[in-house]
Amino acid sequence: MNSLQDAISCVSGYDPDALPVAKANEVIRGFIKPVPGVEKLPVRSALGRVLAKDIVSPIDVPSHDNSAMDGYAVRGADLSAEGPVTLTEVGAAFAGKEFTRAVGFGECVRIMTGAVMPRGTDTVVIQEIAKIDSKRVTLPAGQEAGQNRRLAGEDLAKGKPALRAGRLLRPADLGLVASLGIGEVSVRRKLKVAFFSTGDELVSVGKKLKAGEVYDSNRYTLWAMLTRLGCDVIDLGVVRDDPKKLEAAFRKAAAVADAVVTSGGVSVGEADFTKQMMAKLGEVAFWKIAMRPGRPMAFGRIRGRGKAAYLFGLPGNPVAVMVTFYHFVRGALLHMMGRGDTDLPLLRAKSQAAMRKKPGRTEYQRGILELRNGEWTVRLTGAQGSGILRSMSEANCFVVLGHEQGGVAAGDYVDVMLMDGLV
Ligand code: AMP
Ligand code: MG
Repeated sequence: MNSLQDAISCVSGYDPDALPVAKANEVIRGFIKPVPGVEKLPVRSALGRVLAKDIVSPIDVPSHDNSAMDGYAVRGADLSAEGPVTLTEVGAAFAGKEFTRAVGFGECVRIMTGAVMPRGTDTVVIQEIAKIDSKRVTLPAGQEAGQNRRLAGEDLAKGKPALRAGRLLRPADLGLVASLGIGEVSVRRKLKVAFFSTGDELVSVGKKLKAGEVYDSNRYTLWAMLTRLGCDVIDLGVVRDDPKKLEAAFRKAAAVADAVVTSGGVSVGEADFTKQMMAKLGEVAFWKIAMRPGRPMAFGRIRGRGKAAYLFGLPGNPVAVMVTFYHFVRGALLHMMGRGDTDLPLLRAKSQAAMRKKPGRTEYQRGILELRNGEWTVRLTGAQGSGILRSMSEANCFVVLGHEQGGVAAGDYVDVMLMDGLV
C-alpha cells in the first residue's frame, strides 16, 4: 500500500498551511484507491450504481435493417434523379409483421416505422410525397438511395462494448442494457461510509436546547449528501470533544467503513489534540486550504480493529461541511466506487451584481441561477457566512471564483456549478 507521504511528495509546491484546492485534490486522488467488491443485480436494481465490467453486445441492435419512417420501401436503383417514377405496390410490412417475399424491379411495399426492410429494398420514400392511384405509387425525383433506413447494428454492434466499466448507470443505460436482452449486470458494491459530529455544544434533534448549545445539523446534511451519492451510511452520532471518546469513535468507524467523514474538531483551536490522537490511529495530514468557506481539513487513513478507512475530517461550520464535501469528498468517494467520470461541468453565467474576491484562494459562493431577459444570470443568496446554512438551502448553484481571480463587476461572466445534476 502506498503511504500518504508518497502521495504528498508527488505534488509540487505542497504547503499544508496554504494549500490550493487543486493541490489538495491531487493529494487525495494520488492516495485513494477504488475499493474491490462486485455484485450481480437485476437491471432495475442497478440504477445509480457503477458498472463493474464492460457490457459487450451479444446482438446487433437493431437486429435487422428497418424503416425509420412510414412510407414505401423501394429498390434504390428504381428511383430516378430526372423525373418521377411509378411503381406497383405488392404488399405491406409492419413493425413485428414482416413482408416475406422478395421485391422485384418496378415494385414497392407499403412500410411502417420499425418494420423490417423487405428483401431487395434498401430505401424508404415517405408517404407524404407519394401519389397513390390504386396499386400504382408515383414517387418524385430527388430521392436518395438508402434514405430513411436504419441499418442493423447501427445503434449497438454485436461483439463491441456497449457500456464501459466505471460508468454510473443512468436511465438511458438501463434501457440500453434491456435493448440487448440482458437482465443482470455486474456492479461495484456500495461504499460503506461512517460519519459523526464532534462538539461539546451539539444537541441531537429531539432534545431541548440549553444556553450555548446548537442542534447538530451536520449529521443531516452529511447523511443526505452520502445517501445521494449512493453510499451505505453508518451514523455514529455525536461525539464529545474528549480524546478518549473520539479515539474510540474513530477506531470503530475505521473498523466498519471504507471511509469516515467527520465534522468539527479540525479548526485551529481544536486541531492540536485531534492531531495527537490521529497520530496513534494512522497517517493524517492537517491542512489549511486556500478556500472560502472551508479552510481547515484533515485527510488520511486510519485504522481500527485491524481494518483501515480513509478519513475526511471536515470543518464544523454547516456551510463549510457541505462545500468541502462537494469539492473534496464527493470526487474521492466516487473514485473509491470505481467511477471514471467525476468532474462536474462549470457553466458561464452573467453576474447580476459585483462580488468581492481576493486572489490566492478559491471561493464557493452560493448563488441563484435564473433566466433574465433571455439570458442565464446569477445572483448571490445573501449573507455568505460559513455558518449560514440558509445560503446553501436557497442556492441552486455555486459561483466558483477561481484561485487567481480577483473581484467581479456587475455584468461580468462567472463560473457556476449546478447543485443538481440531470440523472
Ligand atoms: P468547529 O470546527 O468544531 O470549531 O466548529 C465550528 C462551528 O461550527 C461552531 O460554531 C460549531 O458550533 C459549529 N458546528 C460544529 N459542528 C456542528 C454540527 N454538527 N451542527 C451544527 N453546527 C456545528
Ligand atoms: Mg467543535
